[in-house]
Amino acid sequence: MNWLDLPTLIAVNIFASLVFMGIFFSLWRYHPEEKSFLWPFCSGLSLFFGITMLLSRSWIPELISILFGNVSLLYGHIFILTAVRQLHRQNLRSWYWLMPLPLIVALLFFTLVIPDMDYRVVSFCLSSLVISLLLLHELRLAYHQGHRLGCTTLMIATTADLLVQAGRVILILIYPMEQHLFPFHPSILLSLINGLAYMVLCPLGFMMLYNERLQSQLKQEATHDHLTGLLNLRAFLTEAEQLLQSPQHQAVTLALIDLDWFKKINDSYGHQAGDHVLEYFAQLLSMTLHGSGASIGRVGGEEFAVLWHDHSAAAREGLERLRQHLQHQPPYWEGQAIALTFSCGMVSLKPERSTFDSLYREADRQLYLAKAKGRNCLSLA
Ligand code: GH3
Ligand code: MG
Ligand code: MG
Repeated sequence: MNWLDLPTLIAVNIFASLVFMGIFFSLWRYHPEEKSFLWPFCSGLSLFFGITMLLSRSWIPELISILFGNVSLLYGHIFILTAVRQLHRQNLRSWYWLMPLPLIVALLFFTLVIPDMDYRVVSFCLSSLVISLLLLHELRLAYHQGHRLGCTTLMIATTADLLVQAGRVILILIYPMEQHLFPFHPSILLSLINGLAYMVLCPLGFMMLYNERLQSQLKQEATHDHLTGLLNLRAFLTEAEQLLQSPQHQAVTLALIDLDWFKKINDSYGHQAGDHVLEYFAQLLSMTLHGSGASIGRVGGEEFAVLWHDHSAAAREGLERLRQHLQHQPPYWEGQAIALTFSCGMVSLKPERSTFDSLYREADRQLYLAKAKGRNCLSLA
């Protein structure tokens, strides 16, 4: 057992926590907009401080070493939990910061009232176990948002940590800390090896998580309109082409919608009001057609397109509901209702119009006819 040298293991852990801090500090320097990188940096700092505090027991008062050492190590975990939450949900929970309170009470009790190192370590392991469970829960949620690789890596590290903390509790209950099976207690060995594995896997997991989030953000921005959140023209055309090439494309209906006299809204209420009306209309359109399986896109300034994998009857009924909604729930700007109507050209797939191009051209022609008929109506081919 000579190779199990405690000072070396501790030195490697301290070195790893410094590297860990360095990695996240440089990531945060290069991506200052990504606040979640700051938390793992704080975690590394906490781990470094915690280990140093526990090692300084001979030089500083015992209670200070125990309290600051254990609580800093626990905050190391809480910072990681905060980072994962911020990376995928943005909002933080203030009660996270109070989680070490039960540990502080237990440490004070098992130092001042009934001094017992075993129970102090068990209290730390149980607190750490609770945080690992919360972290696994956050990671599971992030996993379902599509951050598969990063979450799996962090889940492996967290599960290993959870098992190690549970294993340490069992070990201490069987072999109290004074019984050294190795040159030192195996629970210390377990915690140091686990710390090392965690500090390697954690930056890896975070970088993967960040990368995956960046990729999905870029994809969202490339395919969606920034104002309304609907598909943009290119993404809408791609979806439409894919639908027409698929085997279930026998019944397809396309509607082109154009808001009536929209320029007047801009001129009377201002461009901002116009933007608000566009957002409002897009939201109402999505809500009304929700569940119909239709693809909805913003294909021009105040022009929208809807593609149903269905016959025109269902599509027509959907747009009729939209017209009713708009009459009863018009958009408001600075307390004033803005009258809003739309015209629509609608076409269904026919043998002579089997390509998307021909479908689009005919829908555009029908829209022109609807405008010519006096607007606020639907023209169907
Ligand atoms: P019509 O009934 O014939 O369609 O009349 P219209 O006024 O709706 O049509 P026109 O093509 O004359 O004007 C469309 C206006 O839409 C002009 C443009 O300033 C406005 N517009 C286009 N994109 C945006 C946008 O993103 N925000 C705002 N606020 N206005 C926009
Ligand atoms: Mg227009
Ligand atoms: Mg218009």
